[in-house]
Amino acid sequence: MALRKKGKYYYGDSQLDIQGELLRYSKLNEYPTAHYADAVCICGNNRFNLSLDEEEGAAVRKCIACKNEHPIGDSNDFLEDAELETRECICRSKVFEITVGVSLYENSEDVKWLYVGCRCVDCELTGCYGDWKNEFEGFQELLNRV
Ligand SMILES: [Zn+2]
Ligand SMILES: [Zn+2]
Repeated sequence: MALRKKGKYYYGDSQLDIQGELLRYSKLNEYPTAHYADAVCICGNNRFNLSLDEEEGAAVRKCIACKNEHPIGDSNDFLEDAELETRECICRSKVFEITVGVSLYENSEDVKWLYVGCRCVDCELTGCYGDWKNEFEGFQELLNRV
């Protein structure tokens, strides 16, 4: 597992590299990620289309195998006002592996900030596709819903 830098972008060999990229990115944001969860569809597939609204703090993944749509984390609570935008890699692919990272309050299980990381399954570009303040109490429950 390794991240390679090309120009201003990072590329990962595997989904695990999303964690490294989220840690790098989140440290720059001053709320470093401490816990992660990989998105897996109920059908077992781990490749998705992603749409999100960073302002509202909502993201929805759609499985490319069975087409099931799933709001990531607590996104369901914010969908009403969200204007979701489908995300696309610079290579124009819209198929990603998705890993979510959270930063917690000190000595707490409660979430402070959430990061949505993606790796393009075509060109392997790996990056943070959205991050926002999240006040969910109990990070494990939030990650269970990734
Ligand atoms: Zn599926
Ligand atoms: Zn790509």
